[in-house]
Amino acid sequence: MRNMSNQSIGLSDELHAYVTRVGLREPEVLRRIRERTAALPEHGMQIAPEQGAFMGMLVRLMGARECLEVGTFTGYSSTAVALALPPDGHVVCCDASREWTDMARDAWTDAGVVDRIELRLGPGIDSLDALLAEGGAGRFDFAFIDADKPNYDGYVERALRLVHAGGLIAIDNTLWSGRVADPSVVDESTQAIRALNEKVALDERVDLSLVPIGDGLTLLRVR
Ligand code: CA
Repeated sequence: MRNMSNQSIGLSDELHAYVTRVGLREPEVLRRIRERTAALPEHGMQIAPEQGAFMGMLVRLMGARECLEVGTFTGYSSTAVALALPPDGHVVCCDASREWTDMARDAWTDAGVVDRIELRLGPGIDSLDALLAEGGAGRFDFAFIDADKPNYDGYVERALRLVHAGGLIAIDNTLWSGRVADPSVVDESTQAIRALNEKVALDERVDLSLVPIGDGLTLLRVR
């Protein structure tokens, strides 16, 4: 699990610090999640603060109510999204780690959004299949995909059924610290992201924009 910079690709440390100082308003609760997560060796998996602000902005602009997340980790992104929802909004969070999602639950409680969250613990593909089996097709306004990269295609295919037309799928780490554009890198995760990027670029089912924020965030608007 290398990779996954907390900073946007192409920004110097100084410029990133500037963006985080004047370019967003990070709620205190999100700052606390970041500080607690910093103690974990996997802390680089957390999204950057400017990305949390951006996703919250998207969710507010859309007027989203029903959100889905695959890969919750310690709860930064789900909390950022939940805080942007109306009180009757929901985030269904899928993650395989009890340890990490225990930290996420503390964050949701801390942020006062725990009643907006439904955690589904287990392999992400199974959780998405269960949502579909429960009649969840077209239920969601917004989906954020940020779990294990070899399964990304499977997550996106399911999200394309779970999110209604006009809804948004956001896929994280699509620039993968630049390795997607380095043909000498051929590990499984890099190849999976590279293949997905090539596929969605031509996919007639969606409108597309790959935003170079954080480690790359591809936005797919479902047609
Ligand atoms: Ca990520």
